[in-house]
Amino acid sequence: MDTSRIRLVAVDADDTLWDCQSYFTAAEQVFKETLLPYGPPEETFARLTRRELANMDSLGFGGKAFTLSLVETAISYGASTDEIHTILQAGRAVIDLPATPLDGVVETLEALRGRYRLILYTKGDLQEQTAKIRRSGLAPLFDDVLIVAHKDESSYRRLCEANGCTPEAFLMVGNSFRSDIDPVLRIGGSGIHIPFHLSWAYEEVEEYDHPRLAKVATFKEILRYL
Ligand SMILES: [Mg+2]
Repeated sequence: MDTSRIRLVAVDADDTLWDCQSYFTAAEQVFKETLLPYGPPEETFARLTRRELANMDSLGFGGKAFTLSLVETAISYGASTDEIHTILQAGRAVIDLPATPLDGVVETLEALRGRYRLILYTKGDLQEQTAKIRRSGLAPLFDDVLIVAHKDESSYRRLCEANGCTPEAFLMVGNSFRSDIDPVLRIGGSGIHIPFHLSWAYEEVEEYDHPRLAKVATFKEILRYL
């Protein structure tokens, strides 16, 4: 991949800069175990997934939306107050996840700093994302931090325009092919995909090869291209 024209680099946060999905997975495990008296795990989990999708329009993405879906689903089974409390605490652990930078993140961002206009670009709940970014301590390594409701072709076009560059000069780094890679390639930008070892079913999409796309295993490997 030729990155000689790249001037603007945006970086996803959850599951790119820090672990997020494993906290969701752990909470889902608590949910399934707590509701075992009410049905097999596949069944209670399927009802949770339907609830999350139904809540997506009004609540969007993130730990708060997830926690409300957990609790609503538990109530729909007639779970006890204690069981609901257990499930609520599991959801809280997602909201309050530590956002500790993954291995190599700090050194890599320091190496990129000053060489590109560097933006942390994340979607989700404003308060929740802001708090995670603060806990991560990474904000000073970026030129700007942006939290948006959706990452799609129009939001990436706006990101380029706001930074005075064309999509040809823009590269996005992230773990989600659906949110971080596909829409960027569609508008003429470039991407570096760093798949996380866990993924959220909602974010799963068919992946493809592209001349403006590279795939690496760890964050520090982005320096092979930047
Ligand atoms: Mg992500």
